[in-house]
Amino acid sequence: MEARVLRDDGKSIELELKGVPLSIANAIRRHLINEVPTMAVEEVMVIENSSSVYNEVLAHRISLIPFKTDLDNFVLPEECDCGNRLGCDRCVVRFSLRAKAVSEVVTVYSRDLVRETGTEVVEPVSGDFPIVKLAPGQAIEMELYVRLGTGKKHAKWIPGIATLYDGPDGSRTLYFESFGFLPPARAVLEAAKIFEKRTGELERVLMEALGDAGKEA
Ligand SMILES: [Zn+2]
Repeated sequence: MEARVLRDDGKSIELELKGVPLSIANAIRRHLINEVPTMAVEEVMVIENSSSVYNEVLAHRISLIPFKTDLDNFVLPEECDCGNRLGCDRCVVRFSLRAKAVSEVVTVYSRDLVRETGTEVVEPVSGDFPIVKLAPGQAIEMELYVRLGTGKKHAKWIPGIATLYDGPDGSRTLYFESFGFLPPARAVLEAAKIFEKRTGELERVLMEALGDAGKEA
């Protein structure tokens, strides 16, 4: 098997795969979409909301903001051993959002989110996402819990677009465009690692299930 980077501009990557069976290349593609963990707001605690937008709509809108993801210092909540429903320093990053319009209309953007815990890596991929407009006299105050999650649980955690197409002379090209959570090269490598871990687990359970019968010639 061979892999070669055709293009990588930090936002999207094109990889030429040679001698890689379609089933395996497609498994990597599907792992990219469904299994590579990324960070997004999973829980919102509304302290004040006198804006014209309902709490639920506000929470939904905020949860769709992609966050730059720190996979080196955080784990999925279900894999964390803290046992704390609100999480700990390894499975949650807490942000706050406070804004008030006094005499003029104020637009609240993703750049107004303030990180209270966690590492510097974790922040919205762009500060320019509008969240809500406040009329004079209106205010919002909330706490946000950013956690790792996967695309199979909710679409907000899908790391990007992944496609596979036939290249020239029997090769295949894997194209991945990141939504900004992770550099594309990192996401592809994480997908391959998770796939490898899965196949290792499968081998182990098959060996256990088949026992000596699996060793017979
Ligand atoms: Zn934890």
